[in-house]
Amino acid sequence: MDVGEAKDRIEAAFGLGELSSGAYSGAWAATAGRDVLECRTPIDGRLLGRVALAGEDDYQQVVGASVQAFREWHRIPAPERGALMAAVGAELAAKKADLGLLVSLEAGKTITEGQGEIQEAVDVARLAAGLGRQLYGLTIASERPDHSLREYWHPLGPVGVVTAFNFPAAVWSWNALLGAVVGDSMVWKPSSQAPLTAIALTRLVNGVLQAQGAPPIFMLLVGGGRTVGERLLEDHRLPLISFTGSVATGRHVAQVVAGRLGRTILELGGNNGAIVTARADLELALKGVAFGALATAGQRCTSTRRVIVHAGVYTDFLARLGHVYRMARVGNPLEDGTLVGPLIDRPAVASFLDALERVQAEGGRVVCGGEPETVPGCEGGHYVRPTLVEVDPTCRVPLEETFAPILYCYRYQSLDEAFAIHNSVPQGLSSAIFTTDLREAERFLSAQGSDCGMANVNTSTAGAEIGGAFGGEKETGGGRESGSDAWKAYARRVTSTVNYGYELPLAQGVSFPV
Ligand code: NAD
Repeated sequence: MDVGEAKDRIEAAFGLGELSSGAYSGAWAATAGRDVLECRTPIDGRLLGRVALAGEDDYQQVVGASVQAFREWHRIPAPERGALMAAVGAELAAKKADLGLLVSLEAGKTITEGQGEIQEAVDVARLAAGLGRQLYGLTIASERPDHSLREYWHPLGPVGVVTAFNFPAAVWSWNALLGAVVGDSMVWKPSSQAPLTAIALTRLVNGVLQAQGAPPIFMLLVGGGRTVGERLLEDHRLPLISFTGSVATGRHVAQVVAGRLGRTILELGGNNGAIVTARADLELALKGVAFGALATAGQRCTSTRRVIVHAGVYTDFLARLGHVYRMARVGNPLEDGTLVGPLIDRPAVASFLDALERVQAEGGRVVCGGEPETVPGCEGGHYVRPTLVEVDPTCRVPLEETFAPILYCYRYQSLDEAFAIHNSVPQGLSSAIFTTDLREAERFLSAQGSDCGMANVNTSTAGAEIGGAFGGEKETGGGRESGSDAWKAYARRVTSTVNYGYELPLAQGVSFPV
């Protein structure tokens, strides 16, 4: 599809072409007198829309409204909140084609990836709908006669959600829709590189709530990280800040929020490795590694950045991978057949080139790629050739997350060596092993194997399902979102002891003879 055609379609669906308000508190703030952000697509640099940024008064209005909204929302029974999330999911599904296209335009994703992101939000809404009847706590055996011991999970309050540019819809949905079913209200600060998706989603979800007679709870603040973002971190009215972004920013977020003894969920950078053993199905491994490394032009937190290949199959595997890389079509992600779209901006291209220069200075060998790419018709975009680099474990640059399609290739002899290389990076998000050997697979999944929050066998490091908990260890920050029992992070746990007898026996056999 042509960018102009896509833009017209988005304009018809969402009316974002003029100046849009970036602050929502139950009503949209005025646009006059605010700084204005120009939103351009990374595909060809074309202007998509303009957003009036939230100012100081808007900030107070929005956070104040989220406190009010929480008071009303958390009193709605959870199954009803779940039913409202089902309605949100239905509306997201109905608008999937247009919302997905907006994601593609703003973040530079292929059509299928943009659609997939909205499908992920639909799936989370459905999960939230079911959870509305499954917000369970434990009953625990009491050591005292005629006592019961149990725990409750209560709504936490208004939650601050700060998101990265690369998943402008999915990451919001993990937080917002699960937080909502638990009973929380939300203040969302999206990335300034993807605010239009945030505005469209905010209109849509609050519209659903209002149509059902429920209060709007999904507040929005589009503004700078160092201004609006920083205010959220310091704001005592927000007991939880869920932050998705780079390790550098996340480290700061953790310190500021901990300084006021607030809670954080941190979803930070990854540096994901895939091990290809001598017993791998090499065709399957090739597909899994290529998808993980090339999809979203290497701009997923779960992108495969390192492949660690057994020496016995290394030459063969690298030759096949090199072929895929040379054939991979780089270009307009709206066109059929494109595998690798643009990087988000010019500094991202500079980071790509800088990493390659430094890794070569320490002995890395570029196998293919390594340079920017000019895409006819998209000269204002930011394209690079996907790149394979042969390295050894002494190289330091592969320990960093470079948000670009660079895949570092290692050769190993023993599985222990592969695990050591794999776990040598400071991040710990996702990981994979490709093998048909049960012993190798199980060792990878055991405590001696991958040190990441997600460990996969015979599938990519990227492309997680929403049913499992998503997140990582070490510098990835330890947060978990999406499925499993991740909803508990948006709740406060209350442990309750009830004495239904006539005596006052004390725990641990303590006596207190009054
Ligand atoms: P980034 O750290 O530059 O920005 C993330 C968000 O933080 C943006 O909304 C930004 O405006 C905001 N921000 C910046 N300074 C702030 C401050 N002082 N206070 C509060 N907020 C502030 O990240 P990015 O470039 O947008 O995204 C890419 C990074 O995100 C990569 O490292 C990627 O791995 C990571 N990411 C992680 C996950 C995950 O689930 N683990 C998912 C997506 C992206």
